[in-house]
Amino acid sequence: MRILDYLLVSMLALPGIAGQTTIAAAQVPEIPNANLQDIAMVTWHVGPLPQVGLPMYNGPVIIYNPIVIDQVGPVLTAFFRSHEYCHVARNHIQQQFFLGNPFNKAWISQGLELDADSCATATLLAQGNIASVRAAFLWFHGQGPIQHVPSHPPGQARANNIANTAKSMGVIP
Ligand SMILES: [Zn+2]
Repeated sequence: MRILDYLLVSMLALPGIAGQTTIAAAQVPEIPNANLQDIAMVTWHVGPLPQVGLPMYNGPVIIYNPIVIDQVGPVLTAFFRSHEYCHVARNHIQQQFFLGNPFNKAWISQGLELDADSCATATLLAQGNIASVRAAFLWFHGQGPIQHVPSHPPGQARANNIANTAKSMGVIP
């Protein structure tokens, strides 16, 4: 299933990592951008959003590369989509946006990336979607210990973090 350009999710209940439940009023525009040098990212947007027919918008948007999403397929895409929604639901964007340039991915710390991965893992497993968690684990595991992006932990660290979160829920990815 392709990610919809604009998805309305009335209320999204995300199981928290430490037992707490995060409730997010998730109404996040999803904007395709074939020039994005990543699968997806989330940022804060102030201004018109003609892609989804909004004359004015002030809030988080998820930007995704439709070409890369087609390449990696729907199972892995579900993980990255959940990861971006977790950034929003856990207030990472609100915490970080005003501290730096939103168009520079370095504004998201490695800790927040790992937190979003844990959140995505917990969310997907709570939905019974082990396949997407396993796909993400293998994706990051295959990247090894090299740090590709300064703001992002090395793939192996992300794989280990996903595995640890899954194991804490009784699942071996
Ligand atoms: Zn992220």
